[in-house]
Amino acid sequence: MTLDISIIPSANPKSDEQVAEILANPGFGTYFTDHMFTVEWTPEKGWHDARITAYGPLTLDPATAVLHYAQETFEGMKAYRHDDGSVWTFRPFENAERMKRSSHRLALPVLEPEDFVQAVEALVEVDQRWIAEAGSEKSLYIRPFMIATEAFLGVRPSQHVTFMVIASPAGAYFKGGIKPLTLWLTEEYTRAGRGGMGAAKTGGNYASSLVAQQEAIAQGCDQVVFLDVAEGKYVEELGGMNMYFVYADGHVVTPETGTILEGITRSAIIELTEKAGHKVEERKISIDEWREGVASGEITEVFACGTAAVVTPVGTLKWKGGEVQGSTETGPLTAQIRQSLVDLQYGRAADEFGWMHRVI
Ligand SMILES: *Cc1c(COP(=O)(O)O)cnc(C)c1O
Repeated sequence: MTLDISIIPSANPKSDEQVAEILANPGFGTYFTDHMFTVEWTPEKGWHDARITAYGPLTLDPATAVLHYAQETFEGMKAYRHDDGSVWTFRPFENAERMKRSSHRLALPVLEPEDFVQAVEALVEVDQRWIAEAGSEKSLYIRPFMIATEAFLGVRPSQHVTFMVIASPAGAYFKGGIKPLTLWLTEEYTRAGRGGMGAAKTGGNYASSLVAQQEAIAQGCDQVVFLDVAEGKYVEELGGMNMYFVYADGHVVTPETGTILEGITRSAIIELTEKAGHKVEERKISIDEWREGVASGEITEVFACGTAAVVTPVGTLKWKGGEVQGSTETGPLTAQIRQSLVDLQYGRAADEFGWMHRVI
């Protein structure tokens, strides 16, 4: 606890009735809590002026660096309420360490992991009435982000940086229950090459994925899947989710890290799947291995994972001129892994890995 956080409560918080109404049907990323966390950085002063204030718009100079050169990083995590009323985050130091790595790639300053976690948990504590009761698979989605806030159009790392945390109540990511996604394989666009910023959680990666996602929607698909830049042959990930393949003999494959985002859900699933007695391989998997494996029945389940949607089955894969149909239902291992992960997050299963961090 090294940040000295001043708290200036909102003069205009939502009423308990309004919060209850929002929590009844929160959607995703639509509503925001009463407060936000802010801390600023300059080379002279380091991180300073940490505060929690009323949630509201920022006033930015039109020359603010992030608006022009996209020097920014972000994180995504959740707070969960357990049956006894306590509130927990899931592996928050992993998010903190990842933001440190992302920020290094984007030439942003280091925010120490303890400070990151302190900021997140201070906001969760202040806005705890926004965390739905236990037993609902609802949570509070937390969005920490770091932006270049110097007003300067020259091209160099910003000399003024702002780190903020906002929070948004979240329901189940997919309305109407979990049904397998149809994916579009883009052969035109790529996500990230060697030496690029594919492993950093930064807005630019999302900006570059949107046109491909649009193409996926136009093709009647839910999400886009990217291949590697070098050979256009190996499966990378979706716009914001990592991928898993389950084989008939019970072993599981997930693409190796390097140019993909190192998902915290991905890494938790490696451990949960191994604990469930399956061999997990982190290796390259070619698009042909996927197509042929599903067609021959050698690959029995495909799923995607990430904090927002947790674990989502993948059904059909389409590409220009063809498609291969996977299962129309959630596979047994996909369902089992999803269940063991949410049980752990909601405190219904023992936390053998020490992943949960109590906030309240
Ligand atoms: C955040 C993100 C993921 C998922 O990471 P989690 O830590 O599991 O939420 C996967 N891919 C991309 C591109 C991401 O930005």
